[in-house]
Amino acid sequence: MGALMLDGNAAAGVLQEIFAVEMTTAVGTCDSCGAAGEVGRVQLYRGAGLILRCPSCEAVLMKIVTSGTRAWVDLRGLRTLQLNA
Ligand SMILES: [Zn+2]
Repeated sequence: MGALMLDGNAAAGVLQEIFAVEMTTAVGTCDSCGAAGEVGRVQLYRGAGLILRCPSCEAVLMKIVTSGTRAWVDLRGLRTLQLNA
């Protein structure tokens, strides 16, 4: 884990803009190991975009790249994402 690692709460602003719901308390299930946990507890890496990794197995859960008013979201590492209305 390098200096660029943060927790998922640091992605809260971007996630909230994209999903328009509170995302840090949304519960994601890792497709790799099946661990479930709040998005705010994942490992967040910043590079060209945001990379959210599973705190249990470090698999990539979500990738987000933003440019201006557009965002690209890759959710293939999530088995499910439980949102609270
Ligand atoms: Zn996992």
